[in-house]
Amino acid sequence: MTAAFGTALLGALRTLLPRACPGCGAQLGAHAGLCPACRAALRPHVQAHSPLRAQPEPHLVTLGTYSGVRRRAVRELKFAHARDLARILGEALATGVPADWNVQAVIPVPLHPGRQRQRGFNQAELLGRALASALAVPCVPALIRTHAGAQQARRHAAQREDLHGAFRAHEGFLPGGPVLLIDDVLTTGHTAQACQDALKQAGAPQVYVAVVAR
Ligand SMILES: [Zn+2]
Repeated sequence: MTAAFGTALLGALRTLLPRACPGCGAQLGAHAGLCPACRAALRPHVQAHSPLRAQPEPHLVTLGTYSGVRRRAVRELKFAHARDLARILGEALATGVPADWNVQAVIPVPLHPGRQRQRGFNQAELLGRALASALAVPCVPALIRTHAGAQQARRHAAQREDLHGAFRAHEGFLPGGPVLLIDDVLTTGHTAQACQDALKQAGAPQVYVAVVAR
């Protein structure tokens, strides 16, 4: 089967099979991922305040709070293999990345290997590929998890030390300029902070962050 035929077949199936929009429950019809109304509700903006900066400075691009369409879309992204959704969210985020950040590469927050085997994919990587493609920069797997501490740290969110050293960055994958870290959600910020530390340690001069919601 050729790729073009596959795409046409997929398009035809989409119109035939009733599928609900994960954002609002309306029928998707021929639309992929999210209905037009939910897409229109995804507006990126830049934030200057987060646990990732000691001083306020624009560094974080997000589509908004972890609620409504964003919450439902992130859940769908985790629990179903929703590539269409990753593309829509990644592209929406890309439109909010300021040109003067001069981002040279997108770097997904890695899942714990056990979790990735279980799920079969990393949702941050799906988002990262879409975001990178829209920004016309590479998406590089520059970060690896070095131990399982992160799983535990999620249960004891107050213990930041558990995450310290949980990530390592491959210097060889870093572009030499500013990078954009991507994850689905920023909650305590401990994971992003540990990733940011690892990237800086490996020589990234500036680390910006993109998340669907926080
Ligand atoms: Zn919708």
